[in-house]
Amino acid sequence: MKLIYEKSKKGRHGFSLPEDQFKEINLKDCIPQYAKEEKEKELPEVSEVEVIRHFTKLSKLNYGVDDGLYPLGSCTMKYNPKVNEKLATIDSFVYAHPFADEKYIQGSLQIMYELGELLSKITAMDKFSLMPAAGAHGELTGVLMIRKYFEDRGEKRHKMLIPDSAHGTNPASSAMAGFKVVEVKSNERGGVDINELERLMDEDTAGLMLTNPNTVGLFDENILKIAKIVHSKGGLLYYDGANLNALLGIVRPGDIGFDVLHLNLHKTFSTPHGGGGPGAGVVGAKSHLVEFLPSPIVCTDDGKYFFEYPKKTIGRVRAFYANFPVLVKAYAWILSVGGEGLREVSEASIINANYILDKLKKYYRPAYDRICMHECVLTGREYKEYGVKTLDIAKRLMDYGFHPPTIYFPHFEPYAEETIMVEPTESESKETLDEFINAMIKIAKEAKTKPELLKGAPHNTPVGRLDEVKAVREPKLHA
Ligand SMILES: *Cc1c(COP(=O)(O)O)cnc(C)c1O
Repeated sequence: MKLIYEKSKKGRHGFSLPEDQFKEINLKDCIPQYAKEEKEKELPEVSEVEVIRHFTKLSKLNYGVDDGLYPLGSCTMKYNPKVNEKLATIDSFVYAHPFADEKYIQGSLQIMYELGELLSKITAMDKFSLMPAAGAHGELTGVLMIRKYFEDRGEKRHKMLIPDSAHGTNPASSAMAGFKVVEVKSNERGGVDINELERLMDEDTAGLMLTNPNTVGLFDENILKIAKIVHSKGGLLYYDGANLNALLGIVRPGDIGFDVLHLNLHKTFSTPHGGGGPGAGVVGAKSHLVEFLPSPIVCTDDGKYFFEYPKKTIGRVRAFYANFPVLVKAYAWILSVGGEGLREVSEASIINANYILDKLKKYYRPAYDRICMHECVLTGREYKEYGVKTLDIAKRLMDYGFHPPTIYFPHFEPYAEETIMVEPTESESKETLDEFINAMIKIAKEAKTKPELLKGAPHNTPVGRLDEVKAVREPKLHA
């Protein structure tokens, strides 16, 4: 496709003004010198219809949640109701100034306060900070709170335990907060190896960062034991709640031993993600950590809402209070779905993932042979003997009109190699799941009979198979 600049023709434009209206006024003279550009901008000169067609064509080269299934494991790419976007753009929200006095923004503060209360109920935490802008940002906030907690007690702890199955941001956040990262191995069921944990947990360790269900979509049934081991040495348990899609209304992290957590409102709570945001990685704390939350937090008394500045706070983690529109969407979504509805969201996510696992396990051997939570991990191991890699399977799926699932994650051998991680979410109908399953079965058959077809895939997309290393190093921004 041509760039819009290449379509430019001198003098062509998308508007026309009646000429004589402006005859006496030389508009250029009305612009003060300092505001004038030295050189005219080089903009493409195209007609209105060309602009419309150009960008409509471009939009069709893309694939998003609104086009079809987007089963990217460990990512929760689900449908986010459009009505919540509308609510987030109501004038009184959009034009609220962050420097406005509390008395002029009571409505916005009430939403922040009530959202914090709702999230506390969902997770069994005591108080939330809505400030962090992303999941990793929430992690850093939570880990800094853990550091401050020990400083405040006059304890020096240098290490942070992180399972090998953790999201890559967990070790990064811990290292940024000054901790030495110590890896805990997984057992053959995909959970934390309890003996390893007992061996590693000591009084120089601040705690354990954990996700449950973990990043392979499995619920660690030893969680109470794990919490006991960490707490018995005075450590704290951090919950990476980026993906809460499996737990809503079923399990509350605060009830199973977690002390502090973050949630990605841009995964589970009605804000789309991808493309860099904006998001919100809100942080919840149990009472013993509340005083360390980022400052300020929203409180209420006598029907009024105001900012409060916790004394032992870690301070601010960004300018202003939050990515506010994301909060409005989460608030609206939680209230519209309701308590029972939240549980249904998670139940549907879990049932959908297990339906896929069950239908496909004959063709793609699961990494772990057990019931999964909101996502399942299959593998393409048995097609290696036909010269077909999991990458080829994923590419071929695009020819069938689906966004490929996450591949090669998790990647810790021996349990998980050539992995295909599928997260269907609650948004999808049985018909869509069946179409996906049928495509995967067809591909499994092709892998045995026509492996070349897979190795050259995709064949029907605007861009074919890329040299992935070259594509990153030497991006070619138009065809
Ligand atoms: C997505 C994700 C994160 C990071 O969230 P960002 O908003 O991308 O920073 C952290 N942990 C887990 C388990 C995730 O899935």
